[in-house]
Amino acid sequence: MAPKILLNQDLCIGCNTCPLIDSDTFEMDTTIYKAKVKKQPSTITESIQSAVSSCPVGAISIVEETK
Ligand code: SF4
Repeated sequence: MAPKILLNQDLCIGCNTCPLIDSDTFEMDTTIYKAKVKKQPSTITESIQSAVSSCPVGAISIVEETK
């Protein structure tokens, strides 16, 4: 099972918090000023969890993919 990060751009308000917390995983799409997943991680790190809990609109969630 691999974790997968979902980022709901409909909810994202472009606050730039998640890329600040984890720039390896999140980046801003500067054409629409919303964040996106830069790279899916192999494991969920503390910084990813921190980004998830710091998002003011709850736009980021983590799912475990079942194969
Ligand atoms: S923390 Fe949430 S609202 Fe802020 S840029 Fe990231 S996804 Fe968007």
